[in-house]
Amino acid sequence: MKLYATASAVIVSAMLGTVAMAADVVVGVSWSNFQEERWKTDEAAIKAELESKGAKYISADAQSSSAKQLSDVESLIAQGATALIILAQDAQAIGPAVQAAADEGIPVVGYDRLIEDSRAFYLTFDNVEVGRMQARAVLEAAPTGRYVMIKGSPTDPNADFLRGGQQEVLQAAIDKGDITIVGEAYTDGWLPANAQRNMEQILTATDNGVDAVVASNDGTAGGVVAALTAQGMEGLPVSGQDGDHAALNRVAKGTQTVSVWKDARDLGRAAARIAVSLAEGTKMNAIGGADDWTSPGGTKMNAMFLEPLPITKDNLSVVVDAGWITQETLCQGV
Ligand code: BGC
Repeated sequence: MKLYATASAVIVSAMLGTVAMAADVVVGVSWSNFQEERWKTDEAAIKAELESKGAKYISADAQSSSAKQLSDVESLIAQGATALIILAQDAQAIGPAVQAAADEGIPVVGYDRLIEDSRAFYLTFDNVEVGRMQARAVLEAAPTGRYVMIKGSPTDPNADFLRGGQQEVLQAAIDKGDITIVGEAYTDGWLPANAQRNMEQILTATDNGVDAVVASNDGTAGGVVAALTAQGMEGLPVSGQDGDHAALNRVAKGTQTVSVWKDARDLGRAAARIAVSLAEGTKMNAIGGADDWTSPGGTKMNAMFLEPLPITKDNLSVVVDAGWITQETLCQGV
């Protein structure tokens, strides 16, 4: 009986071509780096979901090097990956990695950050909406005044998606003359130290004439708050995203206005599910919940967008109830 079942599985799989079953699936994850707290959460969720499906997890950390990321992907392929999940360090530089995977017939999930290639499935949160949520919360706290825009890494398309959403929300107030943007800077590598330095330079250039800061993630918000604190200006409206524990603690303390929370556990689980389905032969457009999406550059893609949620002082209990942070960590020093 067992023999018969095995034989028919072989026949079915022969009929379907080179289709892997979950137990044979090896998912290679190429991380850009683990600088932000969230990526370890994403990783744990991917691992757990793959384990529950009997699939194998292998990974590599590019340590912020787009060149290393290319050799990482080659190495994941050489180690037998049957699907790849890639968090791209540099949207432009990642092209050859997708080509290498395509040459071997290995499906790719572009994870969180856009890889503009229709051969990659795009799985992310709605980043334009994250930008809107950041700007909305800051605008509510500072309906008039001088604004600073601290953007993300110039090699990450999310930086401009966020900035686009922020502008949509601020435009009417800019047009009315209620707010003025007095400084704006990308943050190389999303490094908090770079965000702090940019903020310090803008404070110097404006003679501390700043009323609000739209910062694009919690790491950069941390750098901004450090620069403000050095001038005795902490408490100015500041945005962020990711639900980093330190940032949620700042929200509780009143030195950060909002952290847009993207439950990285959901994104990680979805990526694992999609990678396994693709490795098993499911077509990208047959993935449950996938949408047709056209990038701003005109590339038609299969994509899935999860919904972000702004966390302010008013709804901090949401992240505690979701088991994201303990009440104790949230309120430390409050
Ligand atoms: C992600 C953010 C993250 C940032 C830095 C962005 O692409 O969407 O969640 O904070 O990269 O890693």
